[in-house]
Amino acid sequence: MPYQLSLFQDPEIPNIVDALLSREDCVLAISISGGKDSQAMLSWLTEQRKRRGWCCQVFAVHADLGRIEWTQTATVVQSHAENHNIPLVVVRREKGDMINHWRQRYQTLKAQGNTKPFWSSASARYCTSDLKVAPIDKYLRRYPLSVVAIGLRAEESPNRAKKTRLSYRKTIISTKYKDLPFKEAIKQYNGKSRLSLNWLPIQDWSLDKVWNQCGTSTEEWHRRRGLPDEDAIEGWPAHPAYVLGHGNHRLSCAFCVLADVNDLTNAIAYNEEVYSELVELEKESGWTFQHNRSLLSLTNK
Ligand code: SF4
Repeated sequence: MPYQLSLFQDPEIPNIVDALLSREDCVLAISISGGKDSQAMLSWLTEQRKRRGWCCQVFAVHADLGRIEWTQTATVVQSHAENHNIPLVVVRREKGDMINHWRQRYQTLKAQGNTKPFWSSASARYCTSDLKVAPIDKYLRRYPLSVVAIGLRAEESPNRAKKTRLSYRKTIISTKYKDLPFKEAIKQYNGKSRLSLNWLPIQDWSLDKVWNQCGTSTEEWHRRRGLPDEDAIEGWPAHPAYVLGHGNHRLSCAFCVLADVNDLTNAIAYNEEVYSELVELEKESGWTFQHNRSLLSLTNK
């Protein structure tokens, strides 16, 4: 099918993406975590699909990291997909969940002398690549042509701000495309070699815009964070972790190697078993969960 320029000039949707999503042989995979950003993105993309008449196949994809997830996350992602009538695909790492992977990495490094931390970190982000990217890629490989929508926002970190809004999904595209400009790659696409793009549709969105798209507001989120749990979650349209206890800033693994103190301490009361298991692993290994912060220190004051 020839590459066609879109009639739409919406700056939030590159023409190339619009043209791809208007093809029946393309797939739009919307990556969702249960957090507010992917919830807002899913909602917005569903609106755009209707408005623009995209005829590509669409599904949401969630990488389930196992016991480290908030217990509510599986139900939340399911409801996000159902609310928009979008099929949900859940993928998992076959060799064990996040906690297993940390344990396996510890055993490997212990056998080598235990001289470096086994926990993942900003500079050793194997948790994301092995538990999220790789299982999603494994699923996506069945599709010759895909656009993967990812709900990263520039406001969240300098790293995310630097990311390119549209890029090749290098982990799965055929090498014949990787050095070509997008237009040329699409022109050369013949259905035989895999072509896949990563797209960050809400990269420029503000926090207010995200909460509004989720059906609430930043003010309401803050208000609910001060309420008793029962009142806080009554009618709340997003993941409960944002308002339970003192309310998370972000939704990630219940205990994330990059989380702030607010989110780590908030997770403890709702994920006690996992907390104890990770503290035991800190004690056994001698390595703290984050570079300058142990999980144990959060309750050991
Ligand atoms: S949420 Fe945190 S710990 Fe979990 S995969 Fe992402 S960076 Fe790693």
